[in-house]
Amino acid sequence: RLHNQVQELKGNIRVFCRVRPTLSAEEELTRMKFPDPEESTEIEVRGLDEKNAMGKDVTKTLPFAFDRVFDPSQTNDHVYHEISQLIQSALDGYNVCIFAYGQTGSGKTYTMSSEDGMIPRALRQIYSTSKDLEDRGWRYKMEGSFVEVYNEELRDLLAEEKSTKKLEIHHDMENEETTITNATTLSLDNNEQVESILAQAMARRSVAATKANEHSSRSHSVFILKLVGKNSVTGKESKGTLNLIDLAGSERIKNAETSGQRLKETQSINRSLSSLGDVIGALGQGPATGPETRLSLNNTRESLSVAYIPYRNSKLTYLLQMSLGGNCKTLMFVMVAPEKKCLGETITSLKFAEKVS
Ligand code: ADP
Ligand code: MG
Repeated sequence: RLHNQVQELKGNIRVFCRVRPTLSAEEELTRMKFPDPEESTEIEVRGLDEKNAMGKDVTKTLPFAFDRVFDPSQTNDHVYHEISQLIQSALDGYNVCIFAYGQTGSGKTYTMSSEDGMIPRALRQIYSTSKDLEDRGWRYKMEGSFVEVYNEELRDLLAEEKSTKKLEIHHDMENEETTITNATTLSLDNNEQVESILAQAMARRSVAATKANEHSSRSHSVFILKLVGKNSVTGKESKGTLNLIDLAGSERIKNAETSGQRLKETQSINRSLSSLGDVIGALGQGPATGPETRLSLNNTRESLSVAYIPYRNSKLTYLLQMSLGGNCKTLMFVMVAPEKKCLGETITSLKFAEKVS
């Protein structure tokens, strides 16, 4: 039984890699190969030149395998096509998390929260599917919120004006529900509201882009959609959550190079990204590793995940605790840039992603 539980958890974590096209014809590019264009699960990256024992330059080709690899020719349409089922499973009562991980400039925002990205597509599709399901007796209550995690603190991205109210995370274990007190929530009862929440989210994003481009790459943005459904014909109920997360840039800035505010930012980013890796890694590996893993066979999946996974090490993993583990599905996009000057970060990102997959 325990084995099955572990298998189930493992089966709910997937990693997709996306390589964006180059933005400038002048840039020297990393040599990357996509060996199986049919299946698109492998990527080979030509590494940095190293000297061998004889002092001769040698270059290793590093192979990586993921659940899916998107080469630079693949559009947001292709990408969405591969995740639309996962998105829709939130309507069936799953808690879904989709993360975009990668260095600044690798395409996280383009993929997740641009006008053509996964957030608008997901919202529109969920809304239209929920309407289709009305024919079968389902009625959904949908509520969206959009927050940012910056320096281990939450900020409301949908607030009309700057509010001084502190946002707090509250987990209701019994009802398996997370609420963020004082966060703006918008209900999506009709198409206009869907478009209005999108417009607000996009407006916030562009403010962030012009005013403090730096800032958006130093914070995580989390779009949360809660979906509560009731079927008037069968009496069935379902409760799911869709979380779409545009993570802070993963480039590692050495603490020694920074001080003050910047140091604090760096430390909190490093902390949350490594906690996220630990949490997803722990879920993926199940309880077969680590010291805290003596489990009795009658542990439920829920108590297993809450008790043994280090959610509390960062605000981000704490916020998403209910959606990471238990009845959840997780997808991590690892984004990479093709330019040669990004090669170091590219390899670091791919290794991070391989470790969680
Ligand atoms: P990040 O959010 O990871 O810092 P962005 O999403 O802002 O990176 O992408 C950096 C730049 O690359 C932007 O100008 C964006 O429009 C462009 N870009 C990213 N991914 C793609 C893509 N798949 N196709 C075309 N342009 C892209
Ligand atoms: Mg960005």
